[in-house]
Amino acid sequence: MSDYDRDNIFAKILRGEMPCVKIFEDNDTLAFMDIMPQAEGHVLVIPKAEACDMMDLDDAMAQKLIVNVQRIARAVKSAIGCPGVMLAQLNGSAAGQTVFHTHFHIIPRHNGVELGFHAKNMADPGELEKIAEKIRPLIS
Ligand code: 5GP
Repeated sequence: MSDYDRDNIFAKILRGEMPCVKIFEDNDTLAFMDIMPQAEGHVLVIPKAEACDMMDLDDAMAQKLIVNVQRIARAVKSAIGCPGVMLAQLNGSAAGQTVFHTHFHIIPRHNGVELGFHAKNMADPGELEKIAEKIRPLIS
């Protein structure tokens, strides 16, 4: 994509230039804990492709991404023990997107618990690692 910024934060995470609490990785996809979670167990899943948003992905990559989102969402649901899981995917600043590398949010939801603020409160990486340790072994 011509307007893809190779210095966006997720591109840096993919290159290993910025840290993340990794959940899962294969040839096409990386999943890691959201640093400003909207709920405990908030995970991001990104493609290893230079794509600002979903419309930039080719069919093959879009399929691989959604299949891994489904796999990881199952693991998040089991690890957190939440009755609901919200999948969110924002395209463009008008839609609320703040990082311009395609991604899915996997956000655990509990009855009667409000969704936390979007990209607002920084979590402790040590606490994120403890949650990641529960999720990783459940990805099948
Ligand atoms: P968007 O607003 O683009 O849909 O979501 C971007 C997400 O990336 C937000 O939920 C935000 O908390 C998360 N985020 C922003 N910077 C970082 C970072 O450096 N590391 C991680 N792990 N998540 C980030």
